[in-house]
Order: sequence, then structure tokens, then C-alpha cells
Amino acid sequence: MVSSSAVAKTFAKCLSCDSTFVAELSADGSIRPLGIARECTCGEGDFVSLG
Ligand SMILES: [Zn+2]
Repeated sequence: MVSSSAVAKTFAKCLSCDSTFVAELSADGSIRPLGIARECTCGEGDFVSLG
């Protein structure tokens, strides 16, 4: 039996600069990019999930 995690791996794309990052998709729909700060390296923080 596999317990479903509340967090899924996905890809997030920055709406400002089109950079993509590996990200965690929370059950509530929020996206948290991994490997960088909460904000994109371009300084914007709007991500859309590509997963
Ligand atoms: Zn960006």
C-alpha cells in the first residue's frame, strides 16, 4: 500500500522570465520551487505548474 503524499513533484515556470524549475506541488495547489529561493531568480514570484 502506497500512502499518497500531500506533495508532488512538478515543474514550475516563471510567468515573468519563462525559466523552469523543479518544484513541489502542495495539496492546496501552491507551488514551491526547489533549489532556489521562494522567488524566481528574476525577482518575480509568479509560477505556473507545468505538471
Ligand atoms: Zn523569473
